[in-house]
Amino acid sequence: MYSYKELSQGYYVLSLDNHVEIMEALAAFCGEKHILAGEISGLGATNDATFRYLNPSTMKYVDKTFAEQMEITNLIGNISEKDGKPYLHVHVTASRSDYSCIGGHLLSARINGACELFVKTFPEPIHRRHDPTTGLNMYQL
Ligand code: FE
Repeated sequence: MYSYKELSQGYYVLSLDNHVEIMEALAAFCGEKHILAGEISGLGATNDATFRYLNPSTMKYVDKTFAEQMEITNLIGNISEKDGKPYLHVHVTASRSDYSCIGGHLLSARINGACELFVKTFPEPIHRRHDPTTGLNMYQL
């Protein structure tokens, strides 16, 4: 699913295997390393990505899938802890064949090409809990 190297203590570089789904691979890596706090950055290419948009006036999620070849021009995310497990929050910007960009909250993206990620981890968990006021899973700092 991925190969990785620990560059310095708690700081990893990952290369995901072609055709794997990025969120699945990240969840597997966080589980393997017991990561409950961290930051993620990366780039790559996908041909099947689903983004989420939250309409704040209705608090409804709108999900949309883009089944086309795109460069992942930016992937940024964080890792925290919710219900004792790693919780991933990832956003992506991707460029299309006409060089325009789309993006959003990342639900899934299947790699078609490469995906290179850096994951910086921290020893203390960042806690997250459901906040009834916003309806969102918010940091509890
Ligand atoms: Fe988000």
